[in-house]
Amino acid sequence: MTDTIHGNNSISGRRLNQPISGNEIPRFAGITTMLRLPHVEDPKQLDVGFIGVPLDIGTANKSGTRYGPRQIRAESAMIRACNQATRAAPYESLAVGDLGDVATNPYSLERAVDGIEEHFSRILDADCIPLAMGGDHTLTLPILRAMAKKHGPVAVIHVDAHADSNDHMFHEKLNHGVMFRRAMEERLIDPNFLVQIGLRGTGYTHNDFDWGRSQGFWIVPVERCWHRSLGPLLDEIRMKFDGKPVYVSFDIDSLDPAFAPGTGAIEPGGLTIIQALEIIRGMKGLNIVGCDLVEVLPFCDPSGNTAGIAANLLFEMLCILPGVKYNKSIEPSSCRDGLPTDWI
Ligand code: MN
Ligand code: MN
Repeated sequence: MTDTIHGNNSISGRRLNQPISGNEIPRFAGITTMLRLPHVEDPKQLDVGFIGVPLDIGTANKSGTRYGPRQIRAESAMIRACNQATRAAPYESLAVGDLGDVATNPYSLERAVDGIEEHFSRILDADCIPLAMGGDHTLTLPILRAMAKKHGPVAVIHVDAHADSNDHMFHEKLNHGVMFRRAMEERLIDPNFLVQIGLRGTGYTHNDFDWGRSQGFWIVPVERCWHRSLGPLLDEIRMKFDGKPVYVSFDIDSLDPAFAPGTGAIEPGGLTIIQALEIIRGMKGLNIVGCDLVEVLPFCDPSGNTAGIAANLLFEMLCILPGVKYNKSIEPSSCRDGLPTDWI
């Protein structure tokens, strides 16, 4: 990959990489990286880095999310540089690249988790904002451990069909269904600034979501989201979380399985893709310090569409990070942060 292909403008010594255009090398050709950005080894060269976390040994049911990052990268080849709706131009003001994968231990979840924490600590030490591609949801716990070392307890926006705050599963305290309870016990998160959106499905008991509520979590069950725009919810979240370091954890199973069947624990009646866009675009203005997109399971959707949606949601996350340049709309204000206010 040459400078000519990826661009060579720089800001404060960090090169502003451009994705390879589909008009230069066809989208089905070339070496697969996230969003066709260069693979960069040193996080010090980047403001924002995508990192694959190929992990599935924390999964309770269907395994295979270890192949999630690879399929997300492949499907991301379709995504272009400009966000037409919000006018975000992330590559004009931020140095963005693909930092490759964490070398996750496939035999020991404990060692895999320790390795992820170490890996993300290095990235945060370089003042690079990580956007993680999973991988099963266990990976959020070690990332939160790294986040807390850098920022103290963070606020969290957690979008998921599941609360992931069980005490244990199969008597194990470490897996993809317990992270937010562990994060609370370890004081990695501020419980008064944790919102869980999209929770639903059958429970072990009728009180499954009450533990979180008792801790101060703000729980928005999916039924509250049905048939309505989530713009106003995000207005409230922005008001409440303003000024705090915010971590975003997005489980793809929050979406209805009609949209995203490629995941291991589907629950009917989920969020729409439009609501997912409203959630992410509505975060603009918050001090986002990192994001993950987890639980993409390629074998359950060989079409790649679930991974393609995941890749687009990761691009949308990139577009709302602090410091992203927005090109002014040439039309009179027909968009408010990407949310239409009228029909003009
Ligand atoms: Mn889930
Ligand atoms: Mn989850």
